[in-house]
This record gives sequence, C-alpha cells and structure tokens, in this order.
Amino acid sequence: MCHVEKNVSLRKLNTYGINAVARYLIRVNNEEDLIKIFNDPYLTNIDQKLILGGGSNLLFVDEYFNGLIIYMCIKGITNLMNNEENKKVILRVGAGEKWMDLITYTIQHKYNGLEYLVGIPGTVGGAPIQNISAYGVELSNVFLECQVFDIQNKRFVIFDKHACDFAYRTSIFKRKNNNNDRMRYIITYVTFELSKSLSESVDLQSKNIIKDIIQRRSFKLPDPWLHVGNAGSFFVNPIITNDQYQKIKQQEQNDIPHYLLSNNKIKLIAGWLIEQCNWKGKSLRTAGTWPSHANILINNGSNHGYDLWALAKEIRTSVEKRFDIRLEPEVNIIRIFRPNITSSKLIIRKTHLWQNENKTKTIHIPSDKNVCVHLLFAAISLKQKVSFKDGFFDNICHDVTRILQWIDEYNIADLYFHNHQLLKIIPNDHKLTDLTSASFSRASIDIAGHTLLKYGIVSCVKLGGCQFTDRPIDLHLNLLVALGSAQQLSKACIVKPTLDIPFLEIKYLEAFSS
Ligand SMILES: Cc1cc2nc3c(=O)[nH]c(=O)nc-3n(C[C@H](O)[C@H](O)[C@H](O)COP(=O)(O)OP(=O)(O)OC[C@H]3O[C@@H](n4cnc5c(N)ncnc54)[C@H](O)[C@@H]3O)c2cc1C
Repeated sequence: MCHVEKNVSLRKLNTYGINAVARYLIRVNNEEDLIKIFNDPYLTNIDQKLILGGGSNLLFVDEYFNGLIIYMCIKGITNLMNNEENKKVILRVGAGEKWMDLITYTIQHKYNGLEYLVGIPGTVGGAPIQNISAYGVELSNVFLECQVFDIQNKRFVIFDKHACDFAYRTSIFKRKNNNNDRMRYIITYVTFELSKSLSESVDLQSKNIIKDIIQRRSFKLPDPWLHVGNAGSFFVNPIITNDQYQKIKQQEQNDIPHYLLSNNKIKLIAGWLIEQCNWKGKSLRTAGTWPSHANILINNGSNHGYDLWALAKEIRTSVEKRFDIRLEPEVNIIRIFRPNITSSKLIIRKTHLWQNENKTKTIHIPSDKNVCVHLLFAAISLKQKVSFKDGFFDNICHDVTRILQWIDEYNIADLYFHNHQLLKIIPNDHKLTDLTSASFSRASIDIAGHTLLKYGIVSCVKLGGCQFTDRPIDLHLNLLVALGSAQQLSKACIVKPTLDIPFLEIKYLEAFSS
C-alpha cells in the first residue's frame, strides 16, 4: 500500500505558486509504487488523476484538485555506455530528476548535447511531454528512448524516438494524456544519447554556449522562484498555411515575424500577436503579461488561477478577433471538472437565475444532463450569475462536464469553484453565435435553443451525435425543421434545412412573433 497524503498544498509544487489543495497525493519513488497505485481498486477508481513533475508547465485554475496527484520522484542518472574510447555517451535518467540537475551533471562530466536546453525548469520525465525546445534545438535531437508505464495494460514498455511521435511542442504523450482523454502513459525513465568533449577546446565551446544561453534567458524570462510566478510561454506559436499568412500580411499591411517550416507551413510568434493586441505589460486583476515578453503570463501573488485563466481567455479572444487565429495554450490547464458518469441525484440551488427574481430557490432534480444544460444556458443567455451548490461534482454526468469545459474554453462564461462544491458561473459579454465547437454533444441542441432566443441566429456544423444510439438528435433537428414551416412561426426562416448536408444554419428573422 502506498503512502497517500491528504489535502496537500501544491503551492511549492508549481511555478505559478498557485495554492491549490490536492485531495490526495502520492510520491512515486520507483516503478513498484506505480504498480501498487494501479493495483489498488480505491486509487484506480479516483476519476481525476494528474502526473506531476516540476509543475512548470501547468496552471491549476481552481483552488481545489478533486483527485489524485501522482508526483514523480524517481531519481538516478546511470551511464549505460562508459567506454573511454567511444565518443558516444548513453545516459538513463529517472523521471523525477530535475532537468537542470541533469544539465549540471553533463557539464561536470564534459558531455555535450544539452547546451541550448539549459535554463528550462521541470523534470526529466516532463521534458518529452512537449518535446521541450529552445533556440532551434529540441529534446528529440538527443532523445534515444524512454520507459513508460502503460496504465491501460498495467505494464512497462519502451518507446523509441519514432514511437514518441515528437513534433513542435508535442508528442504522443501530450496527445494521449490530454484533458479529454483518459490518462494513458507515465514516463519513468528517459535515455539520452550525448557526446563527450574529446578536447579542451570543444569543452570550452560548449561552456560558452551555456553561458550565453543563460544570459539571454535571464534578460527575457522571469525566474519563477526569484521574481514572479510563471510557466514560461503560455501559448504555443501558431502554425498556419501560406494562404492564411498572406491574408494577415495584407490585412496588417506590414511584415509579420515568422518562420518558414519544411512542410511549407508558417510559424508565427504568439508573443508578437499578443503584443499587437496591446496586451504587453498589461494586467487583469492579479494576472499580467511580462513587460519584456507578452507571451509570458505572470501571477502577481494570487492563490488561485482564475485571473490567469481569465486573462489568457481575453488574450485569446483579442488575437482571434484581429488575426482570425486561435491560440492554443502550451501550459496544461487543470480544472476541477472532469467526467464522472456515476450520477444519481443533483441538488441545485439557483440564485438570481431568472430576471426579476431575487429569491434563492432549491430545486431537486435528477442529474439529467439536459436539465443541467438548460439551466446553464438559460442563465448564460439571460446574462445571470448562477450558483450550483451541494455536491455538484459528486453527481454531475459526463456531458455536463464537457459542456462546462466548452463554456470555459470558449470564454462564454467564467467558472469559479469554491470549496470544491459551489460553482459560480458569470457570463462574459462576448456575443456567441457560432456553435461549431459545441457540436460534439447531443446537448448542443439545447445550447442552440438558448442562443437562438438570445441572438436570433445560430450557425453550427450539424449538431452533435451520440455514441450510444443512432443519432437520436435527428429527432430534435426534424422538429426544428418542422417548426420552421408551422403556422405560428410563419415569419421564422430556416436556411438550408436539409439534414443531409453537413452544415445547418437556422435563422429566425423575428423570433417567435405570431
Ligand atoms: C521560466 C520558464 C521557462 C521555460 N522555458 C521553456 C523553454 O524554453 N522551452 C520549453 O519547451 N519549455 C519551457 N518551459 C516549460 C516547462 O519548463 C517544460 O515544458 C518542462 O519540461 C515541464 O516539465 P515539468 O516536469 O515541470 O512538467 P509539469 O509541469 O509537472 O507537467 C507538465 C505536463 O506533463 C505531464 N507530465 C509531467 N511529468 C510526467 C511524466 N513523468 N509522465 C507523464 N506525464 C508527465 C503532466 O501531467 C502535465 O500534463 C519553461 C517554463 C518556465 C517556468
């Protein structure tokens, strides 16, 4: 049985310094610990789990993490090829070793290959997740293989470079362990192929590069432990097509800093895009952007990550409006809501839900996703604050958490969780009519209804499907089409109502007037 710590402060375990509290935390010191965790029925059943390395690339938005943190502490650096004649060096390193300790080790032993990656915080196990890179050098350049624990099959496997499917700031691990998927792989050891300095001049050259990089980084980046909480670049540099690039260039009537990639695509600089939207050095409550680097979001002393996430969403909206480019966070966003399918009863207290009503009502309803979604969107459409209380997270079902995630991601409302029970939803001012991003769910029909009422128009790729039966949503869609030709809605007009086409646009010229 592993030692399980309860209600653990994560303040010192993430570089934003967010004081989220984890319900459970287990320190993993060896492979055996992982086997114990995943053979324990209670621990296995905890729905939300997070692998934590140095916490330098994630943002805990909420004050509570309602699950299990698997904190990687596996140590050890082993030289697998210690042959004096051979120029090659093979190092096998525990996932819990600090990346900077590995760099120090290589400097002491005169091993080359990691010079340009100096100064990056975090652990060795965290490095392959996004294929860390700096100054044109990627981890994949020196990576040989890694050992991972495959949670699904409960066994250790080796991934070579090809299997890791590295690309710019991503890998198979980032793709498989993302928020929508169940976590799959835990990296336990990473093996690197480096070279030895065979002469003093090569060693000196290597040391000079390190000095130069450290100096350059210190001008540009705040140190999270000395200066201010941050996680390096917040957004990934977007990669666009040449057509998109030409369009932006024409629109801006200016040269746009970019890199031409080998596949003819173009990489823009997220920091530059953010700066053009006047966010450099700006603040939103306790969150801000670093004055010399607009893509670095900083935490000015808050215990939670709401302001940082709100700022990130505002920045994303501005950039999307001006350049038609949606920035994707490089930082892993950790939120309290996660799918939990075992729902039974949901108690909702609604405050100020309907206009002109100031009473607090308690209604007991079955935790049916459509009811929840109706309530959420009624509130959002009416721009009312809603609070859900009492065991919201013990009982909500899969689709509601996905809808919450969607509301959050697309900046439709800010979601605040207090004491991991109370949920407050504060709608934003943005006008939302394009529901394409919500089309994943049958519940999107509910969203469409409320959006129609609010804005009079909805456009969306054919609304959501269902994984259990054969598109029951078609019943809803047929009803909408039928309503369009009904007498009392003679002034309503449904454009392109054919269900066979993938794009459905519904337009009410004058909503519900007789
Ligand atoms: C000041 C600063 C500068 C930075 N500069 C750079 C830079 O130049 N280039 C760059 O690429 N990055 C940079 N970063 C980002 C970050 O340091 C790296 O991405 C780092 O490798 C993250 O490692 P970590 O151990 O801190 O991971 P964490 O932040 O703990 O975790 C990040 C993600 O990886 C997962 N994870 C962590 N360990 C494991 C494991 N063993 N197995 C499976 N999943 C795991 C986590 O679940 C999470 O999803 C910078 C960050 C800061 C604060």
